[in-house]
Amino acid sequence: MSTEEDFEQYLGSYIGEDQYIALLLDYDGTLAEIPDRPELSVIPPETKKVLYNLVNSGKVFVAIISGRSLEDLRGKVGIDNVIYSGNLGLEILLPDGTRHNQTISEETANNFEKMIDHLTKEVAHNGAWIQNKQIAITLHYREMNPELVPELLVKANQIIKGYGYQTHAAHNALEVNPPIEWNKGLAAELILRTSFDENWKRRKVIFAGDDTPDEDVMKVIKGFGKSFRITRGVDVVTNADFKILSVQSVFLMLKWIEKKMCK
Ligand SMILES: [Mg+2]
Repeated sequence: MSTEEDFEQYLGSYIGEDQYIALLLDYDGTLAEIPDRPELSVIPPETKKVLYNLVNSGKVFVAIISGRSLEDLRGKVGIDNVIYSGNLGLEILLPDGTRHNQTISEETANNFEKMIDHLTKEVAHNGAWIQNKQIAITLHYREMNPELVPELLVKANQIIKGYGYQTHAAHNALEVNPPIEWNKGLAAELILRTSFDENWKRRKVIFAGDDTPDEDVMKVIKGFGKSFRITRGVDVVTNADFKILSVQSVFLMLKWIEKKMCK
């Protein structure tokens, strides 16, 4: 488990006497434990409180970038003056109400429901199920017999590609997104560019995430930011500056930042 001393060592000299930092965060597996079903996720009250304090300190800019739909994410976190980005960055909502949504072609949009119907018939069985996120989906197979998973993935990928969508592996799930050159890293860059000036790379930026799509954010801030990959895997290869073990470690980091920045 990470301690206060660890974060002092990781971030103490980085933050230094700076009066302002940007904090980018993933949600599931980072701020909140991954539940059996996505709708059961709850942000721990103490995490919500420390985030609220950071946001309202005037010294910490907070953006949360998730694979959930934007509305779902905003409902789960429930704090004002945070930038929310859903569907792996395809949707971005600034606190002033401005949206930056990536546009999807009409054909792609029309294929969406057809693809869901097809997947529902062919692969959403034996514990596999589909989470509809309006412009993207997640195919969950956590509850499935692991022996059946390889066959499921072959079949699902075939169907999904047939409708022109693309897939990314996630924890016990397949993320299915429209064919747009976009990812969490580009969303992070857009958020930092629009929130700051052309000197956004001189900002102090801290990011934490637990999954493969989070690696794109780590790449974007490499060199000027500090990133954390939440993982228990010693073999996990990451672009992050540091590995930390758990959602609880992220909470301790937020507490450390609060202590440092909100004296
Ligand atoms: Mg996550």
